[in-house]
Amino acid sequence: MTPVSSTSSSGPVERVVAVVAHPDDAELMCYGTLRKARESGAVVSVVVVTHGANGVSVADAGRQLTEDEREKEVTAAWHDTGIDTVFLHLPDGALKADLPLISRLEAELNRLKCGLLITHSPRAANDHQDHLAIAAAAANAATRVPTCHTVLHGEPHAPRSGFRPTVLVDITDVLDDKVRALTAHHSQGGRWYLSPQYTRHRAAQAGWSLRPAATADGRAFEAFETTLLTLAFTLSPEDPQP
Ligand SMILES: [Zn+2]
Repeated sequence: MTPVSSTSSSGPVERVVAVVAHPDDAELMCYGTLRKARESGAVVSVVVVTHGANGVSVADAGRQLTEDEREKEVTAAWHDTGIDTVFLHLPDGALKADLPLISRLEAELNRLKCGLLITHSPRAANDHQDHLAIAAAAANAATRVPTCHTVLHGEPHAPRSGFRPTVLVDITDVLDDKVRALTAHHSQGGRWYLSPQYTRHRAAQAGWSLRPAATADGRAFEAFETTLLTLAFTLSPEDPQP
């Protein structure tokens, strides 16, 4: 991960936290990025704010999900990755970026000593209302977390969004795992954005505007906007002292 130089072996341990609205959002938005961060030595956590029980699949319309059903799917998706999951169990559908939500997220980010925060994009006006609320609340909360040096906003799957990425993470070698992880969300069967075709297409097209040569060479990416990016340079032992 280019912007996170403090994950080097000589520096402090990087702590990456993804704060998402619903139980499948982190896998869709940043599965590969979180896996690459973990492989580089970072401590990685996924904070899922709602239980998602109101998000019934197209195929199961009319069925009521239990509050822990979708959380079990998240646990299965991240099984054996070394990445922690945290569930805040709020009801989905009507989140608001108000004082209780911002305070709750601020407490979680401080507890996890968040360095790099990944959350939803605030600029996709036609995106899910819970995504927009979390984007605003998490970015707001991060301003009062002293360890938080970088905020990345992941690509929404809302058509016609105003998303303009400036940051890419190469996920080529974990793309197959991302496709597999999304199959854990059985309760969401029938949703177009969970299909392997969409995941592979989005990963293949994410780099065209910023890294066309690498994309033409077959690299797959996850794309992000950023509202805060701090470059940290750590001296390695062999570096000459100034
Ligand atoms: Zn969502």
